[in-house]
Amino acid sequence: MAKFIFTTGGVSSSLGKGLACAALGALLQARGLSVRLRKLDPYLNVDPGTMNPYQHGEVFVTNDGAEADLDLGHYERFTNQDATKFDTITSGKIYSSVIAKERRGDYLGATVQVIPHITDEIKNFIRNGSDEVDVIICEVGGTVGDIEALPFFESIRQIRNELGEKNSILVHVTLLPYLAAAGELKTKPTQHSVQALQTLGLRPDILLCRSEHDIPEEARQKLGLFCNVSYENVICAQDAGNIYEIPLVYNQEGLDQAVANAFGIEQQPDLKPWQALNLRLKSPKAKVRIGIVGKYVQLKDAYKSLDQAITHAGIAEQIEIEKNWIDAEDESLLAKIQSVDGLIIPGGFGARGIDGKIQAINYARKNNIPLLGICLGMQLTVIEAARTEFGMRDASSTEFGPTNNPVVARMTEWMSGEEKEKRGVSDDLGGTMRLGSFPCTIKEETLAFNLYGKTEIQERHRHRYEVNMKYKEALEKKKYVFSGMSPDELLPEIIEYSPHPFFIACQFHPELISRPFRPHPLFTGLVRACIPLSS
Ligand code: GLN
Repeated sequence: MAKFIFTTGGVSSSLGKGLACAALGALLQARGLSVRLRKLDPYLNVDPGTMNPYQHGEVFVTNDGAEADLDLGHYERFTNQDATKFDTITSGKIYSSVIAKERRGDYLGATVQVIPHITDEIKNFIRNGSDEVDVIICEVGGTVGDIEALPFFESIRQIRNELGEKNSILVHVTLLPYLAAAGELKTKPTQHSVQALQTLGLRPDILLCRSEHDIPEEARQKLGLFCNVSYENVICAQDAGNIYEIPLVYNQEGLDQAVANAFGIEQQPDLKPWQALNLRLKSPKAKVRIGIVGKYVQLKDAYKSLDQAITHAGIAEQIEIEKNWIDAEDESLLAKIQSVDGLIIPGGFGARGIDGKIQAINYARKNNIPLLGICLGMQLTVIEAARTEFGMRDASSTEFGPTNNPVVARMTEWMSGEEKEKRGVSDDLGGTMRLGSFPCTIKEETLAFNLYGKTEIQERHRHRYEVNMKYKEALEKKKYVFSGMSPDELLPEIIEYSPHPFFIACQFHPELISRPFRPHPLFTGLVRACIPLSS
């Protein structure tokens, strides 16, 4: 039976709870333990798939096709372990499953209530697979006091009693604000959030205190005393220079030691891989500038995995990367793309910003600027080709409205393993895209083959439209190569423009499987292509 670590947040949102859990997972792995990380989100959406990126940041996709919170991306990147649909839950999903059971008559005439029906459903989710790993870390989204989160806290209270002492701990991530006028870090908001937890029957074992400053001795004493936590379990979590330093910083502050003490783990951590990674990150040999032309660029969280995948490639190649986030609707777009060494056109939805992206693709193609197009980015490379190479001024995607030349069109069916998935025009928007990991066959003697070094790959998808195969031959005549296809040869997965040194676009999201210890070949390839010849 696994040990459980529950993580709650207090005082403020955006404290980096997800990163803290991911880093703790990595630290426990470094002590030889197997871990699994889970996210419990209190909101009522069934999953974040239908949410605007400005609301929620990126939607992460697991191999098995769950649309999940971006924290699952942090978990995967730090623990190098694939998350599944059993690692992400929302109140919406819990309630819909309980209501479906009620309609089926599963509750045998009982009055269906939050306790025990909703809480049992949550507890089943939490306990699922607990005989497969040493430690399960469950992060509760949001902040203590959120009304939707109450059933989650109640479930944790119950499960902690059921598990018995020494089998679970609660880590409360909190904020110590610095008041410049008083010249000190304030502990009162944390005391209040711990009180709020205690009214729910939960007592934290560890306080992970986020702060911009070191926590003075008296503040730690005070927090321990008022929050009923032992002094050594009040951990200072100062802002780190880069996120991959967090495991080292938290280790130094004693986070994993506090967990090890609570669970009686004696093994010491081996942090050499993390130290080596940080050393590489801090010793770049050259610098390149990569422009990302997107429409959600004001909110970095909307491109979290992409941002990280570029960082991983920089670490692997020992290149410092200046990331220029360029708004596709920026009036000085051309000037901005002229000042970068390479371009990425990321995924996206809807028509807004596509003209700017097409302009950027055209510029990169005509001027031999390295370019990586992702998902919508690949669809737009084909639209750009049809417009400029075939003279089809109205070439477009049916996603943006009716067109006589639909070079990108809605997918109606595709293979998912042995099964055929079908979609109609009036299907629900939630959870109905081509989602998750699919195989792709790469053609030899192509840029894609040079980069991957193999012909069979698996990549994660999240899209509803595809490049229309009717235009394949015409594109090939213009020197576009369909270098990656679905194994049944029906869906284009990778397209490249052969006269160009590095112009490649993919229908999948390579950023979702890039890891610090396993950088993705499309990103390392792009970075290498951007390195000026002089360096
Ligand atoms: N909107 C496009 C589609 O649904 C691209 C999606 C994406 O970039 N993830 O196919």
